[in-house]
Amino acid sequence: MQQSWVSELWRVISLALLGGAIGLLFSLPVLGLLVGVLAYLLQLFGRYQRFNHWLHQGLSEPGDFGGVLDDMAFKIYRIRSRSRKRKKKLTELLRRWQDSAAALPDAAVVLDKDNVIVWFNTTASSMLNLKPADQGQHIGNLLREPRFIEYLHHAGFDEQLELTSPHHENKVFNIRLAPYGSGQRLMLVTDVTHIQRLMNMRRDFIANVSHELRTPLTVIMGYLETLDGDDELDVDTLKDCVQRIESPARRMKSLVDDLLLLSRLDTGRVNEADLSSSINVNGMLKNIYAEAKQLSKGDHQIHLELDPSDVRIKGIEKEIYSAFNNLVTNALRYTQKGGEITISWHVDEQGGRFSVKDTGAGISAAHIPRLTERFYRVDVGRSRSSGGTGLGLAIVKQVLRRHDAQLRIESVLGKGSEFSCVFPPNRIEVRDLPKSA
Ligand code: ADP
Repeated sequence: MQQSWVSELWRVISLALLGGAIGLLFSLPVLGLLVGVLAYLLQLFGRYQRFNHWLHQGLSEPGDFGGVLDDMAFKIYRIRSRSRKRKKKLTELLRRWQDSAAALPDAAVVLDKDNVIVWFNTTASSMLNLKPADQGQHIGNLLREPRFIEYLHHAGFDEQLELTSPHHENKVFNIRLAPYGSGQRLMLVTDVTHIQRLMNMRRDFIANVSHELRTPLTVIMGYLETLDGDDELDVDTLKDCVQRIESPARRMKSLVDDLLLLSRLDTGRVNEADLSSSINVNGMLKNIYAEAKQLSKGDHQIHLELDPSDVRIKGIEKEIYSAFNNLVTNALRYTQKGGEITISWHVDEQGGRFSVKDTGAGISAAHIPRLTERFYRVDVGRSRSSGGTGLGLAIVKQVLRRHDAQLRIESVLGKGSEFSCVFPPNRIEVRDLPKSA
C-alpha cells in the first residue's frame, strides 16, 4: 500500500521536475513545473479511465494501471473473487437444500413473514394441490380451513396441528411450523393417515378385548357374589355354581389363548430355518378329521379327500395345525345339523390347496372382505354361543402370511362356504409331484 503511494508520489515529482527542468531551459521554471504537474494529471486521468473501464467490465483480472490504482484494483479484485466464491457456495448450498427438500416425502412450504408462499416442493404440489402460480399467494387463501388459519396466526413453533386434508377426505395431515431464514417460516406437512388408522385400530382392539372379557367376567362375578352371600350353602348349589362358572371361564381362557397366539404371530419373526419342518399334511388331516367327527357327534356328514402322494408343506407344524383346525371348527359351528363338510388337500404344479367346504349358513358378499379382521363377526350372538372368539380367521390369515400362502373365501348365503389355503410351490416339498390334469 505504502509502496504504491510512494511510486505515485515519485510519478508526480518526476513529471513536475522534468517540466521544471525543461522550463528552466526557456527561463520559465514555474511554468515548466505547472506543465509537468498538468502532464501528470492528464496521465492519471488516462489511467483512471482504463481503471474505470475495468471496474465496470466485471470479473476479469486487473490490467496495469500503475501507482495507487494498481493497489486499489488488486484489492477490489480480491474482494470480488472472494464474494464470487461465497455466492457460488451459497447457491450450491441452496440448490442442494432445494433438491433434498424436493425429494422429501413430506410437503415443505416456505412462507414469508406475511404467510405468503415463497417456495414449495413437489410433494406439496400433490399433497396440498399447490400450483407454480400459487407462489406469491397468501397460504390462507389456498388452505381455508379455520383451524389452519388459527394455527397459522397464533401457534408457536412447538405446536402441531392435525387436520383432515381439504382435498382428500380420507387423509389426515400433521402440520408443523419451523423458523426459517430471516423472518420466514418453513411449513412441513406429513401424511399421518396410516398412523391415525393404526391408532384407531388399536383403540378398537382394546375396546373389543375389554368388551369380550367383561361379559364372562360379569357372569363369574355374579356367581361368586351368590356364593359369598350365602352362609348355608349346600353341596348341590355349590356344584351347580361351579359348573356354571366353568363355561365363562373356558370362554375367557380361549380368548386369552387366541390373543396370545395372535400376538406371537404378529411379533414373532420367521426365518427360513423356522419354516423348515416337513409337515405330513395327510397325517395331520387324518387327526383333524377324527377330532371333527368327535366334535360333530354325528350331526354332520364329514368327508376327507387326501392327495394320493406323500407331498408335504415346509413350515411350522403347530401354526399350520392351528390354521387348518380353525377352518374345520368354523365349518362345524356354522353348518346346521345334517349338513355336509368336505376337508380336502390337493397338490399340483401350482402348489398345494387345503380346503374346507360346507353346506352351512354361507356368508353374504358384503361381509367376505372383512372376515379376517380381528373380532369381526357376521352374527355375534351365534359366534359367541358356539364358543367363537372372533379371532379365528385373523389367526388363519397371519399363519398363512408367515408361510407365503393365501386364504381364499368363496361363499353363497344360505348355500355354504369354501375356505381354502393356497400354498405356493416353494412351500411344498416335492416327493413325487403329480401332473395337473
Ligand atoms: P369366530 O370365532 O366368530 O368364528 P372367526 O374369525 O373364525 O371368528 O370367523 C369370523 C366370522 O366369519 C364368524 O363369526 C362367522 O360369522 C364367519 N364364518 C367363519 N367361518 C364360517 C363358515 N364356515 N360359514 C359361515 N360363516 C363363517
